[in-house]
Amino acid sequence: MSSGIAFVNGRYVFKKEAMVNVEDRGYQFADGVYEVIAVSKSHLIDLDAHLDRLSRSLAELEISWPCKRRVLVLIFAKLLKRNNLKDGIIYLQISRGVANRNHAFPENTVRSSLVITVSKLGRPSEMKFKEGVKVVTMPENRWRRPDIKSISLLPNVLGKEYAHKNNSFETWFLDLDQTITEGSSTNAWIVLPKGELVTRELGTKILGGVTRARIIELARSAGILVTEKSFSLHDALFAEEAFITSTTSLVMPVIEIDGKMIGSGKPGPTAIKLLKLYEEFCSRGGRE
Ligand code: PLP
Repeated sequence: MSSGIAFVNGRYVFKKEAMVNVEDRGYQFADGVYEVIAVSKSHLIDLDAHLDRLSRSLAELEISWPCKRRVLVLIFAKLLKRNNLKDGIIYLQISRGVANRNHAFPENTVRSSLVITVSKLGRPSEMKFKEGVKVVTMPENRWRRPDIKSISLLPNVLGKEYAHKNNSFETWFLDLDQTITEGSSTNAWIVLPKGELVTRELGTKILGGVTRARIIELARSAGILVTEKSFSLHDALFAEEAFITSTTSLVMPVIEIDGKMIGSGKPGPTAIKLLKLYEEFCSRGGRE
């Protein structure tokens, strides 16, 4: 559930009264970017990495910052206080702004729009972490820049719906060369039979997950060999373990892909260990 007060273009407003202009380009063209930041015991987890990624997404799309980065952080703090939120998420969306509907960018006098909401959105149930989840695959059908955290998410929405219809938690996108790119809202990982932890390399084919980067760092510090390289569906089906990562799913073990059991069919030791390390990192405040 979203909490009561949102920040919309310079004002704190009751969410149920909050409005955006029908000619906002976010609404008309999905011409905008977003971020989701976890709040744990009042700490914003990996805040700097989220703001760095936001900065990159904005730059890639030539959308200007609606305010200074440090002002954004002040707004976050105020919103959390006003909503009395200590655990949950911050959702932030920036669109190119309001202009007559025309595909090309509007005059640069048009200010980008900023909407921020907070919500108590809980983490997945303990049962899911304990038992692991199922994943299905579908052909990659997104645009060629999923590295930009754009609000244009229709294929991801359809992907997640496909998972739900198939009694699964997530859909992994399968590229033409039979490699897995990522999930509809998560990064994909496998553990190879010799113990090597693998997740796809950064580039234009996946979103550079903030959780992904943190898990790489935590895994390496724990002496686990991590390789950033693409892996095929075949590699995944014959992996020792699989799991997914994201701000809201943390480290979620995967026990079945396309109906085939992975490893022992139970959450594997690497995923369990990394979830523990990630939770410890969050309880230390979620920063270096
Ligand atoms: N990949 C996609 C397509 C996503 O939408 C997300 C999160 O929303 C992720 C990966 C994971 O990113 P993060 O760890 O920053 O939440």
